[in-house]
Amino acid sequence: MLPAAAGTTATTPEDDGGRARRRPGLSPSRANDFLQCPLLFRFRTIDRLPEPPSAAAVRGTLVHAVLENLYDAPAGTRTPATARALLPQEWERLVADRPEVVEVLEDPADVEAWFAGAGALLDTYFTLEDPNRLEPAERELAVATELDDGPELRGIVDRLDVAPDGAIRIVDYKTGRSPREGFESGALFQMRFYALVVSRLRDRPPAMLQLVYLGDGVVLRHRPDPAELATTERRIRAIWAGILAAAESGRWLPRQSALCGWCAHQALCPAFGGEPPAVPEGAVELTLGVRPASPGGR
Ligand code: SF4
Repeated sequence: MLPAAAGTTATTPEDDGGRARRRPGLSPSRANDFLQCPLLFRFRTIDRLPEPPSAAAVRGTLVHAVLENLYDAPAGTRTPATARALLPQEWERLVADRPEVVEVLEDPADVEAWFAGAGALLDTYFTLEDPNRLEPAERELAVATELDDGPELRGIVDRLDVAPDGAIRIVDYKTGRSPREGFESGALFQMRFYALVVSRLRDRPPAMLQLVYLGDGVVLRHRPDPAELATTERRIRAIWAGILAAAESGRWLPRQSALCGWCAHQALCPAFGGEPPAVPEGAVELTLGVRPASPGGR
C-alpha cells in the first residue's frame, strides 16, 4: 500500500472567507488544458465553468468503472459476459453520483446503440489483456506529491501492477483510438507525469507505462528512464511557470486550434466573438496561490 499521505489532498488553513484553501495543484489534464489554450485552462480551473457531459466521455467513465470493478470477481470468472453484466449496475451508480449524465441519453433511440458501444469496448479489452492472469495492486488510485517550490502533482492512476520482483507498471485505459504514429507524445506526457509521481511515492521508478486503447484495440508500451523523468519534471515546472505568469498578469489568452471544435466555451471566447466573464473575486489566489496584478484578472 502507498503511504497514508498519498492520494490525499492537503489543505492549508482557511482563507478569510472561511473556504478551505487547497494547496495549488496540477494534474496532467489541467496541464494539457494550459498547453492547448490558456483561456480554456482559466475557464475550467479558475472559473470552474460547468460543461455539458458528452456521450463519449460518459461512456468512457462507465467503461472505466466496469474495468475497475471487474477485478473484484475471482480470477477465472473475469469474462466478457461478466464485464457486460456489470454495465447496468455501474450505470446506475454513475447516475446516482452524477445525475446530469442522463442528458447524453435523451433520445431513446440512441440508448441501445450507446450501451452496445460500451459493450464493444469491453469486448475489445479482452482481446488485449487476460484479466484472469492479473491481480492489480491498485485500481483508480488517487496519487499526489508535492513538487519542491511548485504545485502538488495530482492524478488518478487507472491501474497499478506490481510484479513479484517489485517492478511497477502503470496502466491507463483509453476508450478512444490510439494516436497516429508520431503523435504519441501527448498521451505519453500523462503517463510520464504519473511515472514521476509514483516514482516519488514508491521510491522507485515504474518499469513500464502502458496505454490500452479500446477504441481500436492497440496497446502502447513505454519503458521510462530516469533522464526522461527529470525532463518531465522540468517540463511540468515550465508549464507551471507559464500558468503563474498568466495568473499574475491576468492574461489568459485564447489559443485557437482544431480542438476548439470540442470546446464548450466558444460563446465566451474572444476568438469566436465572445466576451469572457470577469474572473470571480479571489478565485486566482484561491486556486493558484498568487494575486493577479489587476483585481480579478482579465
Ligand atoms: S474556443 Fe478554442 S481558443 Fe476559445 S477558449 Fe475554447 S479552446 Fe480556447
